[in-house]
Amino acid sequence: MPDMTTNVRYVRGIGEQRAKSLQKLGITNLRELISYFPRAYEDRREYRRIADLVPGENACVRAMVATEPKLSHIRKGLDLVKLRVVDESAALELTYFNQSYLKNSFHLGEEYVFYGKAEGNPPRRQMVNPLFEPEGANRVTGRIVPIYPLTAGVSQNVLSSAVRQGLDACADDLTDFLPEDVRKSCQLCHVRYAYENVHFPADEEALAVARRRLAFEELYLLTLGLRLLRDRRGAVTGQKCAPTDLAPFYDALPFSLTGAQKRAIGDAVRDMCADRPMNRLVQGDVGSGKTMVAAAAIWFAAQNGMQSALMAPTEILAEQHYKTIAPLLEGFGVRCALLTAATTAKTRRSVLEQLSSGEITLAIGTHALLSADVTYQRLGLVVTDEQHRFGVDQRAALGAKGDNPHLLVMSATPIPRTLALMIYGDLDVSLIDELPPGRQSIDTYAVNSGYHKRIYDFLRKLIAEGRQAYIICPMVAENDELPDERKAVTVYAEALQKDVFPDLTVTPIHGKMKPKEKDAVMRAFAAGEIDILVSTTVVEVGVDVPNAAVMLIENAECFGLSQLHQLRGRVGRGSHKSYCILVSDNTGEDNRQRLAVMTKTNNGFAIAEEDLKLRGPGDFFGSRQHGLPSLRVADLTCDMELLHLSRAAAERLIADDPDLAAHPALRGRIDELFELHATAMN
Ligand code: ADP
Ligand code: MG
Repeated sequence: MPDMTTNVRYVRGIGEQRAKSLQKLGITNLRELISYFPRAYEDRREYRRIADLVPGENACVRAMVATEPKLSHIRKGLDLVKLRVVDESAALELTYFNQSYLKNSFHLGEEYVFYGKAEGNPPRRQMVNPLFEPEGANRVTGRIVPIYPLTAGVSQNVLSSAVRQGLDACADDLTDFLPEDVRKSCQLCHVRYAYENVHFPADEEALAVARRRLAFEELYLLTLGLRLLRDRRGAVTGQKCAPTDLAPFYDALPFSLTGAQKRAIGDAVRDMCADRPMNRLVQGDVGSGKTMVAAAAIWFAAQNGMQSALMAPTEILAEQHYKTIAPLLEGFGVRCALLTAATTAKTRRSVLEQLSSGEITLAIGTHALLSADVTYQRLGLVVTDEQHRFGVDQRAALGAKGDNPHLLVMSATPIPRTLALMIYGDLDVSLIDELPPGRQSIDTYAVNSGYHKRIYDFLRKLIAEGRQAYIICPMVAENDELPDERKAVTVYAEALQKDVFPDLTVTPIHGKMKPKEKDAVMRAFAAGEIDILVSTTVVEVGVDVPNAAVMLIENAECFGLSQLHQLRGRVGRGSHKSYCILVSDNTGEDNRQRLAVMTKTNNGFAIAEEDLKLRGPGDFFGSRQHGLPSLRVADLTCDMELLHLSRAAAERLIADDPDLAAHPALRGRIDELFELHATAMN
């Protein structure tokens, strides 16, 4: 008897070759096959009389073959099969290209159902390559038909026929692991009905009912899985800190912290004093001052005799953190070190020694901190900045260097609250929803390249007032070659220097430069020695030069909304009025809308919500980013009601049956789903 784990090769029509193709779609067994859901549906239910066909519209007709199919070779590589079919109202000419075998598929006088786009006017009504099947078969015509995402070597027909067989084979093995009372109270259909109708819906209503059940299931499993992980984490004991007065730290700062910063620090300190290790996400818009929250937590850990590691996604950022945090903490006798790929072998050796002996308390660095030879004497706190750049597994790898260290994750990607709940469901969240005082909103303009002269004049004026400017170029693809960021940036910088700003200092920077060169340029820019920095998106994340007051983004259509917002966040960091200019000659409606969002608001969360609406949650949910099972049916932009319903149901279940001992089937499914990720998430 076949069951869910049976190999897809079991299915008629799936041989070695197709099995390989299916594997590319993530399908190896029958469960994966029937869980491969359509991306869309085509409604082929409408039957028309041939006389009522409307040119350009799709429809089914029931018709009888009236002429013997005729095969003609037009030229090499072009064969036609032509035939005429009739119903009680009129005749229809059918043409099939390069399917000469069809000549023998139609039998004179027999009835078939054809589905295709009507063309031509009476009396020469036509269809080209219409789908067909014998009258009454109802497989590819006369119903709502699933459209699957495909890969080479697998057609819609192959897939839908395979899914059909999969469903039939698994019918008995498809037991419902949703508790009966949950199904009843949330009005969800049975799993078998759901699978049947998500693939082969009887009508729209059946499809909606099926989708709702499957979406609920996904969200329910995800919520339960995350809860189990969190509880499992709760079972490990952390390195418990003793409360300490933070006043000395606050007093050492050049400014007073915002209420939101203090709240986030308070959350972190409370977590570190609790029994289980901290696992906290600090979410705050660009410029909201997350670095100080990290610094405070590190200071607090140091007061408790613990070492900390602070991991940043780029060298520039790591160095910047080092420059901000080290002087502050060294004032308290807390020794800090920078560790990146650029660190010389000699310095590195000495830093590693002192980290493992405990003489150095804080290591700031890039993923260089993850390498095997980095060991700590007593690693108590791990901070990762700009978390979305790191995988969950990297976070875990760093954590593994200590004995259940506290984790603090800083993210500037303003993920809408609901998504944060799902993605970071295992984290506690602190929100920094307040900017330091004195920040002015950044005036943002979207213009076309006809404005360049005026823009350059504007830059010149601000630079004369002592400010600096960023110009961002996207990578350019030269013909079929790889995108060459170097070229875009260096060519543009040279042209500007020579033709537009011969009296100013224009300098390029890009990701392909050696770290040393990059750092030198950034240092010079921070010191005010460069007027205009022409850059790729290497400055996107976290770079802090308060004197920069203009962000000019060329070919703004190449960037996503959140990325544009990040880039804009590089200016307006000081007391100077700042500007963001988005240049784009793309007149598409999508692009116009996106840029309009930028000109209307400075609020990263509002922008993220818009981004979600415009692009859908796919980008946030690339599983690479967070290591959670992906959502196939649920759509967080419109399934909010379902999200709340499933969370509430999950909470109720956990309250009654904390480790799901009474629900083995459910527990099994969750373990299976989270299996790959279990280690990473801990
Ligand atoms: P982000 O949240 O983007 O990481 P940063 O931590 O880089 O923000 O802070 C942005 C800038 O604001 C820095 O120059 C920092 O020194 C400054 N800053 C942070 N907190 C405050 C505050 N409470 N008052 C004034 N300036 C602050
Ligand atoms: Mg930052």
